[in-house]
Amino acid sequence: MDVQFLGTSSGTPSRSRNVAGLALRASGSKHWYLVDCGEGTQHRLLRTSLSVIGLRAIFITHIHGDHCYGLPGLLASAGLMNRSEPLLIAGPPAVERFVRAVIDTTELRLPYPLDFATVEPGWTNDTLPDLRIDAAPLSHRVPSYAYGFTEKAVERRLDIGRLERDGISSGPGWGQLQRGQDIELPDCRVARSADYLLPGRQPRRIVVAGDNDTPMLLAEQVRDTHVLVHEATYTEEVLQKVGPGPQHSSAQAVAAFAETAGVPNLVLTHFSPRYQQGEGKLSMNALEDEARAAYHGALFLASDLQRYALDRHGVLAALADA
Ligand SMILES: [Zn+2]
Repeated sequence: MDVQFLGTSSGTPSRSRNVAGLALRASGSKHWYLVDCGEGTQHRLLRTSLSVIGLRAIFITHIHGDHCYGLPGLLASAGLMNRSEPLLIAGPPAVERFVRAVIDTTELRLPYPLDFATVEPGWTNDTLPDLRIDAAPLSHRVPSYAYGFTEKAVERRLDIGRLERDGISSGPGWGQLQRGQDIELPDCRVARSADYLLPGRQPRRIVVAGDNDTPMLLAEQVRDTHVLVHEATYTEEVLQKVGPGPQHSSAQAVAAFAETAGVPNLVLTHFSPRYQQGEGKLSMNALEDEARAAYHGALFLASDLQRYALDRHGVLAALADA
């Protein structure tokens, strides 16, 4: 599975960061998914290898503009490119109202169907070919969700020793057994696939959270999760100054939660534009330092267009070609 950040700023874009957007793809899939679609997301996409034709579904975490104002332009562009495949748009109820209002008032005609899914606590989706999706409610000024993406197919290896012991010689039958099919042997015995498959590995799982001031709400959802992507809008000191009104998390709070929950990879994003490169209290280093002090797993601070690959062993690596 891999993810690519299309925007990593909160509220407003900066010279180096656009507002929220993240592309996610299951290994080997030609389809991809978008989580949030801040204004300008389609411009960021032009700098990636991703196309709106291959986009299968969009998951909006919450209705704030920095997470969804890019939807109308992206949907319209996909229409002008003659997209014909249906597109799933999942999100809190306001997302459908917003998109339908824009379509109506701007007389937008799309040559492909939009399928809206209303996300509420406990929502899941099992209709996509490669990933199973679940949603968990967060705490923000408007309904906000975290989406969990779990790969559906886990490759299984054959128990060669047992096959040989049972006198089942290699051939096309091995492939059928590996694909889950039972086979009849020349001596009329039936070999059951389940008897010859070794236990599969844990399916890869990534949770991408929307804006949220209470990371603990993710405790259940991040169980058996390899990667948590979460906002870290402020350092703890700035959060204390700003006060609880905006309902965001500090890098320290998210890191401390990820440490307690035992999440092996943490990717922070959605940084206040006040944090710049360099040193000092309002620097990316300050955000990173306080997260590292509280978290001992693999920590990443996302930047726009950065890609990360999650391998079969649950190791997340930043790819160099960003
Ligand atoms: Zn936001």
